[in-house]
Amino acid sequence: MRKFYTTEGNRSSKKQKEAYPVLALCENCVGQYTVISEGERTYDECVKCGADD
Ligand SMILES: [Zn+2]
Repeated sequence: MRKFYTTEGNRSSKKQKEAYPVLALCENCVGQYTVISEGERTYDECVKCGADD
């Protein structure tokens, strides 16, 4: 099960979507990101490793 996380992206970007991208991440990969906030659970695959079990 993945969750949506609001992460720190390119902070110099004026676009919210690039500055704080919302990504579906698994537990293994989320540690590689700076998480701003945690969202809903999702069945989407992990954007990093593609886990979808
Ligand atoms: Zn992953």
